[in-house]
Amino acid sequence: CSKTAGGNGVRFFEPQMQTKLEARRTLEAELRSALDNGELVLFYQPIYSLRTLTICGFEALLRWRHPERGMIPPADFIPIAEATGLIVPIGEWVIRQACADAVLWPDHIRIAVNLSALQFTKSDLLQTIAAALASTGLSPTRLELEVTESVLLRDDESTIAILHQLRALGHRIALDDFGTGYSSLSYLRSFPFDKIKIDQSFVREMAGRADCASIVNAVAGLAQDLGIGTTAEGVETEEQVQQLVRAGCTEVQGYRFGRPGPAPSVAQYFTNQDRPDRAHARVA
Ligand code: C2E
Ligand code: MG
Ligand code: MG
Ligand code: MG
Repeated sequence: CSKTAGGNGVRFFEPQMQTKLEARRTLEAELRSALDNGELVLFYQPIYSLRTLTICGFEALLRWRHPERGMIPPADFIPIAEATGLIVPIGEWVIRQACADAVLWPDHIRIAVNLSALQFTKSDLLQTIAAALASTGLSPTRLELEVTESVLLRDDESTIAILHQLRALGHRIALDDFGTGYSSLSYLRSFPFDKIKIDQSFVREMAGRADCASIVNAVAGLAQDLGIGTTAEGVETEEQVQQLVRAGCTEVQGYRFGRPGPAPSVAQYFTNQDRPDRAHARVA
């Protein structure tokens, strides 16, 4: 059933592309009802302070519990949610749910939520966040917001203005996946972030590749000069932990300290008195 272009015999629509497209359309239709059907869930992954080796917060990571396909990771459906605009209602749910869960945790524990560019341009983000805080009673200082470079891509003044307002309200703003964009350093100039999250691709290769280690050292040093924190993502080994301590990184997140888990699994970290080794032993 592939179509062929005019008379030149070039097939521009391969059968497997057709199948892919159909699969995507099905997923798109199912995603529309997933939110109403309660199929979306938030998993939480701990973030540890490297100075005190205690938990300072959790990142909310979205999962789709599909009735037939099982657990679908965000990489497989967030692009669809963004292409269709569904990320706006989904993102609003994420903010409400994350605040509702986090308000049950100890007061010094923060919650980090990922935001998409569309939430800044196609919805009233300030209103959504204000409503979630009002209905749950969570303090704004406990809600951290993670944005990637894509949010700042167009250097949109209204997006920057919203970030400034969020910061004035007491929220911390983190620059996620740092180093993976086209001009990472220039984004540090467009907004005074509270924290840089060093992308896991650098952390993963740090032990074997001197260039990746140099980049991590440089970013941690740069953040120190700017007076802000750094979270290393994707930390899996003790060797990486030691390198990150030497680099002057302030926070770590990764399987070494705990995998993302459903809300009820968070409690074990507190009963373990925030100790990473014991918490890790239970989670693994
Ligand atoms: P991210 O914000 O950079 O989240 C970190 C990702 O690294 C998560 O993948 C997490 O499970 C994974 N990770 C953590 N520790 C390790 C480790 O030690 N090793 C390895 N290999 N991976 C680790 P996940 O949960 O699949 O999320 C992928 C991305 O999807 C996130 O990247 C974020 O950009 C996006 N995302 C997740 N939830 C949301 C959401 O609610 N809204 C939006 N807009 N995006 C979200
Ligand atoms: Mg993130
Ligand atoms: Mg990241
Ligand atoms: Mg990422």
